[in-house]
Amino acid sequence: MSTPPYDVERIREDFPILSREVHGRPLVYLDNAATTQKPRAVIDRISRYYAEENANVHRGVHVLSAEGTEAFEAARQSVASFIGAPSPREVVFTRGTTEGINLVAHGFSAAVLQPGDEIVVTGLEHHANIVPWQMAAERTGATLRVLPMTPEGDLATDALADVIGERTRIVCVSHTSNALGSVSPVAEVIEAARAAGAAVLVDGAQATPHAPVDVQALGADFFVFSGHKTYGPMGVGVLWGREDWLDRLPPYQGGGDMIDQVTFERTTFAGLPSKFEAGTPNVAGVLGLEAAVQYLTAIGMEVIQAHEADLVAYCVERLADLGGVRFVGTPRQRASAVSFLLEGIHPYDAGTVLDRLGIAVRTGQHCAQPVMDAMGIDGTVRASVALYNTRSEIDALCAGLEQVQTMFS
Ligand code: PLP
Repeated sequence: MSTPPYDVERIREDFPILSREVHGRPLVYLDNAATTQKPRAVIDRISRYYAEENANVHRGVHVLSAEGTEAFEAARQSVASFIGAPSPREVVFTRGTTEGINLVAHGFSAAVLQPGDEIVVTGLEHHANIVPWQMAAERTGATLRVLPMTPEGDLATDALADVIGERTRIVCVSHTSNALGSVSPVAEVIEAARAAGAAVLVDGAQATPHAPVDVQALGADFFVFSGHKTYGPMGVGVLWGREDWLDRLPPYQGGGDMIDQVTFERTTFAGLPSKFEAGTPNVAGVLGLEAAVQYLTAIGMEVIQAHEADLVAYCVERLADLGGVRFVGTPRQRASAVSFLLEGIHPYDAGTVLDRLGIAVRTGQHCAQPVMDAMGIDGTVRASVALYNTRSEIDALCAGLEQVQTMFS
């Protein structure tokens, strides 16, 4: 049986927002690295929860609370399956990628890092995978080291042996750069970290929306992502961690749900994953995230990846044909995001004119100032695609950029 063709027009019908207009023009949404739009399945799941199921979880004996708890834990299993986690005990719900990284950095500060230890980040990281580690270094007397990027926007893997050594305790690497779209050779980084006896945290914020993820095959110790960039709701995310590491790290926050026994003298903590989930969780967010991963699984991440690869290649080709475009980053492998500058035109000017044409792109530093500094620029225009984008939207972007060039010539 042959696979049915990817019916993008049919898929677009699942996303109500895509039929709206902006400034009287059809919306062309190419800011997916910032956040993806939500399919009806996610919106309906959240609304059904509040209309029919709302109750606090893990605490009540009444029907709504029991059903809610069951649904919440079933969602944990769905997320575990989506990322290939061996057990839902290793899946911690967070507010997003940022909180997941802070949780691990806090745990490392308290239980692992000593003065003179080293933390490695890369030159391609989002601020969320830099600042928490800087704070951890300051708290503990550890040193932050940086695996640089090449002028093309790839990781400089030939520097791995210089940067990762016996003092390295953790290596923090993004799977895919939000600023340039570079897909990093994460396996090579993990191998180098393993050889040095260091742990690895993979920032998967730009991975889960665009490619199949299997945390066991990946071989890292921690993997984090955000619901809202993966077609799910805002305010929910996931930290996956190996059970032995999660057992070793202390709780991030104290409160209800994360305890075993509390007296004024002493508290003992709950097991995994509750130990890291203090307070009332974002139940609607978690159920919405489950709907999102089920939606993605039904389409198939490989199929989505192939569709987006075609769009990215088409976008790069069309932009090159336009003339006057300087690509910022020409990585060996790219997913979703294409960053560029129009010669002589400030990115904000380009973004503002595009917006008047109904085209949403991102302009600026993309929360990755060190990437921009290394490139010697203030910012870029970034177009980032998702499963519902089309070649004709790339054509609209290029037509819009031509107008920008005419206006500013
Ligand atoms: N890491 C990467 C690679 C990102 O792209 C982002 C968001 O753009 C983050 C981390 C932070 O994600 P959040 O703001 O959802 O916590």
